[in-house]
Amino acid sequence: MSESTGPRLLAVPPDDKLDRRVPVTPESAVKLVEQGWAVCVPEHIGEAAGFSNDDYEAAGCELVASVDGAIASANAVLCVSPPSDNLITKLSPGTILAGFLNPFAEPGRIKQLADAGVVSLSLELVPRTTLAQSMDALSSQASLAGYAAVILAAERLAKALPMMSTPAGTIRPAKILVVGTGVAGLQAIATAVRLGARVTAYDVRPTAKEQVESLGAKFAKIDVGETEEAKGGYANELTAEQLDMQRKALAKLCSESDIIITTAQIFGRRAPLIVMRDMVEGMTPGAVIVDAAIATGGNVELTKVGQEIEHQGVKIIGDPFLASRVARDASAVLASNFVSLLKHTVNPATMQPDPDSDDEIVRGVLLTYGGEIHDERIRTLLESSSEGNQS
Ligand code: NAD
Repeated sequence: MSESTGPRLLAVPPDDKLDRRVPVTPESAVKLVEQGWAVCVPEHIGEAAGFSNDDYEAAGCELVASVDGAIASANAVLCVSPPSDNLITKLSPGTILAGFLNPFAEPGRIKQLADAGVVSLSLELVPRTTLAQSMDALSSQASLAGYAAVILAAERLAKALPMMSTPAGTIRPAKILVVGTGVAGLQAIATAVRLGARVTAYDVRPTAKEQVESLGAKFAKIDVGETEEAKGGYANELTAEQLDMQRKALAKLCSESDIIITTAQIFGRRAPLIVMRDMVEGMTPGAVIVDAAIATGGNVELTKVGQEIEHQGVKIIGDPFLASRVARDASAVLASNFVSLLKHTVNPATMQPDPDSDDEIVRGVLLTYGGEIHDERIRTLLESSSEGNQS
């Protein structure tokens, strides 16, 4: 296939070698070329996810020797992890940068992007609406992370998950507790149920009960008082007293579980700390915890980012890139999210998003444009941090 001569779009691989996902696959590149982009990918970008240089070339991509060499001439950049300082300094004003930008935890980086005149589109800010579902990368990655968390835990557990009747006796099914039943948690439940485990799950959102039960799991009843849903279906943060009640009620369930998968998160905040040291110490040696919320701080007091540790015989896994364990599929859905995002937000006549658009999705994801930060929450965070620095 011949290369396109349109504005240049560069795919940037993740910063961390443990993350094997890519923002552009050969299949998505074909669609990006159809949208008018000249797609550039660094050599070997997709090898760890199962995509070869030849696959990219056949899809019409230009292979470039390095990101550093190609970044200044890029009109659009797609990234998996937030851009490094080095990358930001090399971006030309007006370049579109789309990806996971971690705006709430690192608002300073968003200011850098605004100051550099970058047009940034944040995947974290895709609205949770039916129309935006095809761009919802938080969901596409969470779903695969939930699946991967169970497969990983099953592999680390020295027990089988399903009940088995053998001539030598009956093996009882493993007990799995899933804490947080959003997209990742529900996929973890579905996977664990399919593998034959006995699954109990808990979420603060009252609507979660029905979804959990429809997957064949038991919903743990824990009364922590009022826990209504926030905007977009997200959970509201519990008070310190409510969290304490929750921990006390969950302690017994933890002690009975062979595997715990934690996925509880609060949009724009640190993940709630739910499984404390004493709860881990109450578990049976050999049990496994996968803290799937570690990328936003973790739900388990003892989890270490990027490590598998053992505490009194209980394995605690803190992999922040769970979806990358199925990197080919995770990349395919992420790349498809990018194709839909660019199709929806970029005006084909200008190959730029319209900053004055009334469209809910464009207004949601467009984080910086023309030197300004468009999201009020990030501006407020920056103001409060600069006030904090002055006092
Ligand atoms: P999330 O990743 O923000 O959080 C994961 C889960 O943790 C949530 O279910 C949340 O209620 C739960 N949680 C928070 N604090 C908790 C605590 N202390 N204890 C137990 N659980 C706790 O959530 P998500 O996966 O992004 O999904 C949030 C909601 O949005 C869900 O209802 C999901 O079905 C919905 N959703 C809708 C769409 C759409 O309509 N297009 C897309 C994606 C998700």
